[in-house]
Amino acid sequence: MNSKNISHIFKIAVILCGGFYFLFALFNIKADIISLNFLLLLILAGYVVPRMTLKLPHSNFFVSFSEPLIFVTFFFFGGEAAIILATLEMAANCFYLKSTGVTFKVLTLPFNVFNAALSTTLAFTVWSLLIGSISFSQQPLSTRDLILSLGILALAQFLSSSIFAAINHSLLHQASLWQTWKRECFSSSMTQIIGAGIAGIIYKLLSSADLLSTTVAFSVFVFAYIYYRQSINEINAAMKKAEQSEREKAAVERVRAEQAEKHIVELNKLLENEEKINEALQKSRDALEYSAYHDFLTDLPNRLYLIERLRLLIEIQIDISHKYYVMFLDLNHFKYINDSLGHTIGDRVLIFIGKCLVRILREEDTVARLGGDEFAIILNDLDSIEEAEQIAKKIHEKLTRPLRLQNHLIFTDLNIGVTPIDAEHKKPEQILRDANIAMHHAKQKGSGVAIFTKELRGIYLDKIKLQTDLRFAIERKELSMHYQPIISLKEGELIGFEALLRWNHSEHGFVSPAKFIPIAEESGLIIPITNWILRQTTKQLTNWQKLPNLAHLIVSVNISGKHLAGKSLVNDVNKALLISKLSPSTLKLEMTESVAMENAEHSIETLNQLKQLGVQLSIDDFGTGYSSLNYLHRLPFDTLKIDRSFVSATGETGENAEILQTVMSLAMNLKMRVIAEGIETEAQLSLLQNLGCHYGQGYLMSKPLPVNEIEKLLGTKRNWLPVSNQTFITPTAISNTKNLQVFN
Ligand code: C2E
Ligand code: MG
Ligand code: MG
Repeated sequence: MNSKNISHIFKIAVILCGGFYFLFALFNIKADIISLNFLLLLILAGYVVPRMTLKLPHSNFFVSFSEPLIFVTFFFFGGEAAIILATLEMAANCFYLKSTGVTFKVLTLPFNVFNAALSTTLAFTVWSLLIGSISFSQQPLSTRDLILSLGILALAQFLSSSIFAAINHSLLHQASLWQTWKRECFSSSMTQIIGAGIAGIIYKLLSSADLLSTTVAFSVFVFAYIYYRQSINEINAAMKKAEQSEREKAAVERVRAEQAEKHIVELNKLLENEEKINEALQKSRDALEYSAYHDFLTDLPNRLYLIERLRLLIEIQIDISHKYYVMFLDLNHFKYINDSLGHTIGDRVLIFIGKCLVRILREEDTVARLGGDEFAIILNDLDSIEEAEQIAKKIHEKLTRPLRLQNHLIFTDLNIGVTPIDAEHKKPEQILRDANIAMHHAKQKGSGVAIFTKELRGIYLDKIKLQTDLRFAIERKELSMHYQPIISLKEGELIGFEALLRWNHSEHGFVSPAKFIPIAEESGLIIPITNWILRQTTKQLTNWQKLPNLAHLIVSVNISGKHLAGKSLVNDVNKALLISKLSPSTLKLEMTESVAMENAEHSIETLNQLKQLGVQLSIDDFGTGYSSLNYLHRLPFDTLKIDRSFVSATGETGENAEILQTVMSLAMNLKMRVIAEGIETEAQLSLLQNLGCHYGQGYLMSKPLPVNEIEKLLGTKRNWLPVSNQTFITPTAISNTKNLQVFN
């Protein structure tokens, strides 16, 4: 059985007992008691008293007038009357409270009502048992009896009613009876004590005072009551107001707290979002940083990364001196791979090389792509430069193996320069410069790998200085043209000139073309310089052609590989012809066979366009490079110039003439005219004449000369061959000439 049911049973028990005693009192009440006074008391108990109850502020104490009324009723009308009055008063009280809005559970109201009946009965029973001998007929009661009676009644009634209430409460809430009584009921003892006090005063007034003093006392009581009630009401109202404002304050605080909580939640959300944003930002920052330091194509570290790493190594230089090495790698002719096979293949070659380098090297080494076809490597902590050289050679060997990509067999070639990082290096750029110098040296030597030395740096710096000077050479009028006559070997007639560039440096005097032409080619300066040469020479020739009997003169201009490989040559030549108004057929362009073969398809196209302009084309230095006969056949050359080395190799008696003979046969088969260069001796001249060589140039006839000297000769000289040679030598004069072999 649950606590609620037990409580119900208890309530019902109290109701039944209280009801029984109420009925018992009702039936046993003496008839003479029912009087006007008693009715008056009943009216007071049923109507006035419930409305007079005062609650003391700041406490649970109630000043009720029901107890005084019950005790007074007891003294004047006996126990039964008091039980009836107590019951009615409690019922009236409950109904009055109900009318003010207090709610009662089903059994609570009858329980309260009959608990009053029961506790009053018990109080009187206790009183009867203890001092029942006191007679009410001997009125008025002595003060001692009155206090004793009231004390017993008040105590007994308080105990019985509070114990019943506490039992009910503790049953309902399953709490300890003692704790419940202490907490819930003890405070009501004051109500009983005050009630007993008031009852004593009323009893004394009613039993012994005269009308006047009773009226005065009653008036004082009414006045005090009204004043007190008003004060209490005001205090209660003030308290209510204060409570209300406290409540409002609390409500405002609560709202504020709720809002603060809301804000905290929102703030947390914001913080969470911010954290996410920060994370995303960090990620994109990382990605940005990565792409700033990496090459997008090969995914290798880039120049910036390498520079940073070198800077770091320089900072800790004392420890790294001669332990770290830097390699500079440059692919040869990578442009041709791009131009002929397309950029996709070009990109794949670069990616392949990057991967290859990473595979060959150790994890602690750094491989970077500097851009284009240039790579750089930092080799960490090696024992010696020889070790670094070995690694470079290994890389060179691996990367010069033919590579097959999308059915193309690609031949990659590269040069590697190696430098140690030493205490002299103050900036990363200086390290890269030294490795680059070594790489250039390797390229020049054709060795593939070269180690940096301080001498190389000197040569390189001189070269850079020369390059800078060359840039301003035209403006400073340091460049001029020399012309070397080209003679028909049969008639000794001047057929034209080879235009040869001269540089009279303001500090160093004449600089050899062998020194400055490669610098001009490397730096790209050769193109503007050649354009200047074309304008100079065509103009010069136009003037010479105006001289008597010289309208047939031609001029041969050397064209560099860079110019042929570019796109502007045809246009540049055409421009020079238009400006000078020179007949195109009297302009000849010379280029070496290896230059023409480098990108044969492009060369064929350009040379054909030049042919369409009407100019003549000549292969220079023939025999020194590798020529594909197949291509040679397709290139629209008019003349072929036998390299000086073949001519100078023939001695006085015509030894070593076989190659000359072979070249002559080849030229004839290709239906080209042949010029021999570097004729220095009469024997060479005779030999060439006997081999049927058409033209020749060489110191024997004339060195390259400046314009004024050429002009002196133009007017006077009729036969340019040496006097002794001016009688033609027949081909039979060469006795030791072997069978002429003809190339097919
Ligand atoms: P190249 O085109 O084969 O010019 C012929 C070179 O042989 C010239 O040297 C000339 O002076 C030299 N030579 C001619 N006959 C003899 C001889 O009998 N004995 C000796 N020992 N040498 C002789 P140079 O003027 O020093 O030019 C050297 C090279 O420089 C030229 O070879 C050419 O490749 C280049 N070069 C000269 N001028 C120019 C130019 O204007 N443009 C271009 N692109 N290259 C030029
Ligand atoms: Mg030449
Ligand atoms: Mg030559």
